[in-house]
This record gives sequence, structure tokens and C-alpha cells, in this order.
Amino acid sequence: FLNGKRALVTGSTSGIGLAVARALHEHGAAIVLNGFGDDAEIAKLKDELGADHSGADLTDIAAIEQMMADIGPIDILVNNAGMQHVAPIEDFPAATWEKIISLNLSAAFHAMRLAIPHMKQAGWGRIINTASAHSLVASPFKSAYVAAKHGIAGLTKTAALEVAEYGVTVNAISPGYVWTQLVENQIPDTMKARGMSREEVINDVLLAKQPTKKFVQPEDIGALAVFLCRDEAQNVNGANWSVDGGWTAE
Ligand code: NAD
Repeated sequence: FLNGKRALVTGSTSGIGLAVARALHEHGAAIVLNGFGDDAEIAKLKDELGADHSGADLTDIAAIEQMMADIGPIDILVNNAGMQHVAPIEDFPAATWEKIISLNLSAAFHAMRLAIPHMKQAGWGRIINTASAHSLVASPFKSAYVAAKHGIAGLTKTAALEVAEYGVTVNAISPGYVWTQLVENQIPDTMKARGMSREEVINDVLLAKQPTKKFVQPEDIGALAVFLCRDEAQNVNGANWSVDGGWTAE
């Protein structure tokens, strides 16, 4: 049902973004991938999905503008690229704060401002922001991430109101813990910040948050993104969908 539609999924060379790109492709969308990685791996993904790829660094506004100009009009924008850093506020590197706010929040704003004109003109569009359970609740030692994700929740609502009459919807998906590189990477710092072993971090910090005691699968997020693109979802607008095993219900 997405034949003829073109989707940009940022941060889609791994994890959740890749699963979303695969799911949209499966339903007929033409895909533009974005993200870093090994050249050969990216070439393989481009082949698999018949996709284009932009290696734009989304912490750089000029690079976002160049990417959007290069790829042309898109019908579906999935703002998904993100990073994490785990440290107490007093030890949090200032440059890392700036980088996380740029990537996890500002990049979505810049991609949206450049994508919305075509969507409004076409009278159809879908914007999906990968937020997080951390767009709704906090955890210690993740100040930049939690601030950026709460920001994306507000940006989602604002954009949803602005485009509501144009056949465009803007929604956020808020996963709990999904086993991806982003989660794997934060284990050593969390061990340090909390004085825990790897197993303690997995069971007592990560899975402790999720009443189902299970990691979310990237494919679960892909399936929800597909639903949000359906006509049946045309009145789902400005929503923040939790996929967190019940974490934020507590
Ligand atoms: P991941 O590390 O597997 O993927 C991150 C992607 O972003 C990769 O494709 C990477 O190349 C790309 N990327 C990193 N820096 C970039 C930059 N400067 N410019 C462009 N691309 C860049 O992580 P993931 O877990 O799949 O995370 C995807 C999104 O999901 C993030 O926004 C993250 O905050 C969110 N999220 C993840 C979880 C989780 O538990 N994994 C939970 C909630 C929300």
C-alpha cells in the first residue's frame, strides 16, 4: 500500500531504523537510508532494499540541508537517528550534551522543516519520530538523552497541530529497551556509573524497567510505523505510542 511513496529513515544502517526501513520497503515504499557504517555493509543494505543512502552527519545542520536537497521530496519521514551517553550531570561532557541535543532533537526539527512543504502540497505525509520511554519518564545519568526525548515529544505535538489539516500526521513511537547497538554500548558506562556487573545492568537496570521482562524487538517498531502510514491511521496525530512492556504504566 506504500507503492509510489518515498521514505527517508534516519539512522537506518542499524537497529530500530533498519527494521523500520525494512518494514516500509516490504509494503512498497522506496527507501532512503541514512546513517554510518561499514561501506560494504551499507552497499549490501542498499542492494537488499533497492535503496538510496545518505551518509549525512545529522549533528550538522548544513549536512542535513544538503541531504534533503540531494534526495528531493519525501512522503514519509522517520526521524530515528539517536545516541546515548550515560554519566552523572557533573561529569557529563559539555560537548556530548550538545551532540545529543543536536542529533536526538534538533535534527528532527531540521528534517521536518525541509520535508513538510512537499507533504503539505501533496496533501499526504507521515512523520514518525522515534522518541523513547525516556520521552515520558527519566532515569538517572541520562540527562541529555532524557531532555532531548522529552523535547521530541513536544515537537511531535506541535508539528502535528501545524499540519493536521493537510493530510499529514506526526506521531512519536516510544520504545522501552530494544536490544540494539545503542543499548549494548551503554552497558560499560552504566556498570561504571552504578558500580554493577554486566548481568546486574541487564537484569536490574534494563529489564527491571519492563514489566514484561522482555526486550522490545526492532521489528515490533517497524510494524507500528507501517500502521501509522495506513489510511486507517489518518486520525492518529500528535500521539506518543509506548512500546515498553508497561514501563511507563507504573
Ligand atoms: P543504533 O545505535 O542501533 O542505531 C543508531 C543509528 O543512528 C545508526 O544507523 C547510526 O549510524 C545512526 N547515527 C548515529 N549518529 C549519527 C549521526 N550523527 N548522523 C546520522 N546518523 C547517525 O540505535 P537504536 O537503538 O536503533 O536507536 C535508534 C533510535 O531509537 C534512537 O533515536 C534511540 O534513541 C531510540 N531508542 C532506542 C531504544 C533502545 O532501547 N535501543 C529505546 C528507545 C528509543
